[in-house]
Amino acid sequence: MSVLIAIDGPAASGKGTLARRLARHFNVPHLDTGLLYRATAAGLLAQGARLDDVDQAVAVARGLALTDFNEDTLRGREMGEAASVVAAIPEVRDALIEAQRRFAARPEGAVLDGRDIGTVICPDAPVKIFVTASPETRAQRRALELAGRGEKVEFEAILEDIRKRDARDSGRSSAPLKAAEDALTLDTTKLGIEEAFAAALKIVTEKAPRG
Ligand code: C5P
Repeated sequence: MSVLIAIDGPAASGKGTLARRLARHFNVPHLDTGLLYRATAAGLLAQGARLDDVDQAVAVARGLALTDFNEDTLRGREMGEAASVVAAIPEVRDALIEAQRRFAARPEGAVLDGRDIGTVICPDAPVKIFVTASPETRAQRRALELAGRGEKVEFEAILEDIRKRDARDSGRSSAPLKAAEDALTLDTTKLGIEEAFAAALKIVTEKAPRG
């Protein structure tokens, strides 16, 4: 039996970790859709193009393969910010929809995480989880992650980044960050990874009992 799980939430909410864990648990492929927007931004910057160059951005987005992302480059602080700028361009989002839907339609099932998976990419997914956490908790997690990558950034600067990105992602007109009406919200503010995973697993098994 296949399972399709849509996970959305703001930056550093823990959705990526949960998505990876769930995919491993159910032995299905996982797509971190944030990487598509990060790779689009990185492609534009590598060409010396502006982030608001719509034609170039669409060309880069169309040319992306869903594999072979250099996560090391893409996961940096600057690229998250740049990704959120290109992600607000409706034409860029349109250019990336089909590949994401094709990934979601794999017969064995899939886990996708992002901002609009439950609302736009997979509105019919049987399991939708909206992962949240307080901005301060998310900033602490991001600080640890960046420190692990050798990027030392002040906590206050990271918190500011997170608030700015939340505002841009929630305020844009095209596929804004929001929970689907039929999503279950999982607040991970006070949860460790194992507790959050157990809570997510409970949601999945209740929503999509496997025969
Ligand atoms: O999840 P991550 O932080 O890697 O995403 C980077 C940016 O890409 C987000 O801030 C958001 O603007 C954009 N994004 C999006 N829709 C998705 C995934 C990411 O708009 N499905």
